[in-house]
Amino acid sequence: MMQDRAFIEVYGARENNLKNISLNIPKQRVTVFTGVSGSGKSSLVFDTIAAEAQRQLNETFTFFVQGFLPHYGQPDVERIEHLNSPIIIDQKRVGGGSRSTVGTYTDIAVLLRLLFSRIGQPYVGPGYAFSFNTPQGMCPECEGIGKTVQLDMDKLLDRSKSLNEGAILHPEFKVGKWMWKMYPLSGLFDNDKPIQDYNEQELQAFLYGADLKVSWGEFSSKYEGLLERFERMYLKKDAAAMSDRNRAVFEQFTSSQICPVCHGGRLTQAALNCRIAGRNIAELADFEATDLISFLADVTDPIGDRVAAKLLERMQQLVDIGLGYLSLSRETSTLSGGESQRVKMIRHLGNSLTEMLYILDEPSVGLHARDVARLNNLLQQLRDKGNTVLVVEHDPDVIAIADHIVDIGPRAGVHGGEVVFEGSYADLKRSNTLTGSYLQQVVPTKQHSRQPTGYLPIVNANLHNLKNVNVNIPTGVLTVVTGVAGSGKSTLINEVFLSQHPNAIVIDQSRVTANSRSAPATYTGIMDDIRQTFAKANGVSASLFSFNSTGSCDNCNGLGLVYTDLAFMEGISSTCEICEGKRFKAEVLEYRLRGKSISDVLDMTAEEALDFFNEKKIKPVLQAMNDVGLSYLKLGQPLSTISGGEGQRLKLATELHKKASVYVMDEPTTGLHRSDIGLLMGIIDRLVDLKNTVILIEHHLDIIRQADWIIDIGPEGGSAGGEIIFEGPPMALKTCQRSITAKFL
Ligand code: ADP
Ligand code: ADP
Ligand code: ZN
Ligand code: ZN
Repeated sequence: MMQDRAFIEVYGARENNLKNISLNIPKQRVTVFTGVSGSGKSSLVFDTIAAEAQRQLNETFTFFVQGFLPHYGQPDVERIEHLNSPIIIDQKRVGGGSRSTVGTYTDIAVLLRLLFSRIGQPYVGPGYAFSFNTPQGMCPECEGIGKTVQLDMDKLLDRSKSLNEGAILHPEFKVGKWMWKMYPLSGLFDNDKPIQDYNEQELQAFLYGADLKVSWGEFSSKYEGLLERFERMYLKKDAAAMSDRNRAVFEQFTSSQICPVCHGGRLTQAALNCRIAGRNIAELADFEATDLISFLADVTDPIGDRVAAKLLERMQQLVDIGLGYLSLSRETSTLSGGESQRVKMIRHLGNSLTEMLYILDEPSVGLHARDVARLNNLLQQLRDKGNTVLVVEHDPDVIAIADHIVDIGPRAGVHGGEVVFEGSYADLKRSNTLTGSYLQQVVPTKQHSRQPTGYLPIVNANLHNLKNVNVNIPTGVLTVVTGVAGSGKSTLINEVFLSQHPNAIVIDQSRVTANSRSAPATYTGIMDDIRQTFAKANGVSASLFSFNSTGSCDNCNGLGLVYTDLAFMEGISSTCEICEGKRFKAEVLEYRLRGKSISDVLDMTAEEALDFFNEKKIKPVLQAMNDVGLSYLKLGQPLSTISGGEGQRLKLATELHKKASVYVMDEPTTGLHRSDIGLLMGIIDRLVDLKNTVILIEHHLDIIRQADWIIDIGPEGGSAGGEIIFEGPPMALKTCQRSITAKFL
């Protein structure tokens, strides 16, 4: 399959909303896919091209190996020819636990260890003696984690209560739960006596009763004291590798300290005693990338030493992509989506693969206008190594460097799914497509700001890189927080501001999906009203029209899909044969509302549903969905299939009704075409006109120019940032010399 031809040829793509489209994509070029949100870019690039490339690649492996690979269904496309092996660089978090750091993930740590084994003094051993992930290298006390975790007894126990009253506060030990039962059923305690009244012996038994035995009913088992059990079940696990929910619970009951033996250096004393120019490897791994580069350039010989040269080259790539403020020791689980994507790019730039198919999803997310030029440079480097690069992107500066552009449209959902333009940037600008016409427009900077109604103070903020920041957020206006990546925007707003002002509503990009039955109708809350309306019209119970009740299809339990588990594989899902994916029993589908069944309604887009419903509680929500640019979304579309940006706008549509007064949004323009951004600004303006306070973290110049108030943080990322560079209206920012943002307005 991997043949050398000048084009990837796609014939008859019909996935999701794609209208049987065919196109040629030039190889060894950068092709950017543009179009409004929901037009079909991801359906083409990810669901069709990437999926088929992965499927074809898997077929080249033996049947045995295939058993270990995730399963990729055949996309709905007639055929695709001349595909290469795909590498997909998306914004999914890297994760990976405490042992995964920027250094280990990008393999740059290998080079640093090699350098220490060669020129560090005194000599300790080969490179692995410097790895906290090998038995030879790791600190024996903390096993290479750098931290020790202790249980906080005062948080775990309410000593004024008895076992029966719920003295153990951990949710897994709630009264009646299986984990709780061992203690009251052991017969060792007075279950109604408050813990504070236990004598020394009872307390010892309760917390550390390792050699006791208990029996209840026919069971007999080894008793385990509460602390012993907690230690075995939780403390021995890596918190960074836990699910968000488990980690939150875990952190609630523990406190972690820097390891007293290695002081966070993670390594053996021998490894930590080895130095280059007075610094050990843990100290260098804690340096920000920019600082590490200047240090190494001074103390090594990059011309004579190939390892030093290679290390400097890789470090420079981190700086080039706008991550100069990260250290090699930074745990990957703490990176944002945009940072994760850029770290993935660095990992791939390190390999020498050519003739690959690189596929990127909006790589400009989280990047300041200044850093987009550097991103472009890296995309071009990937291409110049002989790779084909496909990018889904809205940023005009990225679109401008494309060798080839494919514009999908003309609009979203059923009104999209066609190729409306193919060609060069110059031709796109002259075309009469929506994308072309927006490329010409410049949004003017706001001249007359709204008057604030008051302000919310942020006092003495020192978290991460913040340098004792004191700043007032004006209320009743639109504030945009700006600054290069790593300057401290999220730290200031998402961490410090929200902890000082917890009643704000946060509309972020964390996934909205609650369970496999969630859909826009359930998420926004209108499903309840839709069921009531169906019930009233038909004189039956509303519960019949719920996905998970008496009315749902017995075969698929209301999912519409049936999952088959396969050994080693992800499992495959297929449409339920009984309800044909309609999710409900046949008799439920007989009930109609103005001629439509419940399944017909869930198959409507928000736009169609807005026409169909007049009900007072339903209509405003549908109107809000249309307003935020989600007119193309079906009411019953599983939330697992929608993107982060779409999810964020769905949250926005939902929260608009909750009458909060302070809204915080992190890069709400993600995934939005410039025409969609106009819609978004409309909603935000309406919120603010109603005297709400809106705070955005944004890089998009259209949004910055329309703010009432700007707080610019910087001047640079990391330790070179963390100061307020400017606060005031956008017109005044233009003349602020120290602000990097000002140069792009
Ligand atoms: P874009 O990437 O241009 O924002 P998408 O390709 O994600 O657009 O979506 C195109 C259309 O296909 C939209 O109407 C979207 O709701 C729909 N769609 C996307 N994924 C799915 C899916 N898994 N199931 C059903 N519809 C989908
Ligand atoms: P921005 O939002 O402007 O991109 P951030 O607030 O994310 O910037 O980061 C500001 C500084 O704080 C950077 O030096 C970053 O590396 C650091 N930082 C952010 N989150 C963490 C974390 N979880 N652990 C350690 N450092 C962090
Ligand atoms: Zn240690
Ligand atoms: Zn079914």
